[in-house]
Amino acid sequence: MDVHNVNLLISAVNPAQYPKTGYPEIALVGRSNVGKSSLTNVLINRKNYAHTSNQPGKTQTLNFYEVEDSIYFVDVPGYGYARVSKSEREKWGTMIETYLTQRQQLKGVILLIDGRHDLTQDDRQMAEWLDYFDVPRLVVATKMDKISSSKWNKQSSMIHKAIKVDDNDLIMFSAKTKHGKDQIWQWIENQIN
Ligand code: GDP
Repeated sequence: MDVHNVNLLISAVNPAQYPKTGYPEIALVGRSNVGKSSLTNVLINRKNYAHTSNQPGKTQTLNFYEVEDSIYFVDVPGYGYARVSKSEREKWGTMIETYLTQRQQLKGVILLIDGRHDLTQDDRQMAEWLDYFDVPRLVVATKMDKISSSKWNKQSSMIHKAIKVDDNDLIMFSAKTKHGKDQIWQWIENQIN
């Protein structure tokens, strides 16, 4: 999709606040600092539209970006942020679970993992949890420009060992080179059509 129009439509914490237009939704999840804002900006051809919202003390909300009047990207606040309190983590859990398990318009979830490292326990749990609820998921390994391409295969096998994932549902990505951008859009279009 060639994106021209994007609006941050709404920040929501509960279903009453979700958008009501009925467009298909693709959610992006991953731990803080994994590169979620950077991926979103690449997908929507913007330099700095989505920005990191994971600073401690900031309200954790679901952010709905309306793209080309036809789809929403739903930015889910990052998990595994060490400095948030237990009660904040519980609120986060309830908000995410409600959205991911009950939202009819949700067509797929992009799970971002840091391509340079092994998956964290949170990453594996999120992957298993999405499977349990039958939510289609794409795994995107981020920051791949930071490792040499000779090591990409090794990283990819490591991911395959850690979680169940088809080759079609795993994409190596770099926000710097934009490697993987077209494949990710292709996956999104397959989910929403
Ligand atoms: P978020 O917290 O998941 O939204 O993460 P950000 O998108 O804000 O990225 C966190 C940091 O990683 C920032 O300093 C980004 O510039 C950097 N980063 C994100 N993606 C990439 C990438 O593909 N390549 C490189 N080299 N740096 C990246």
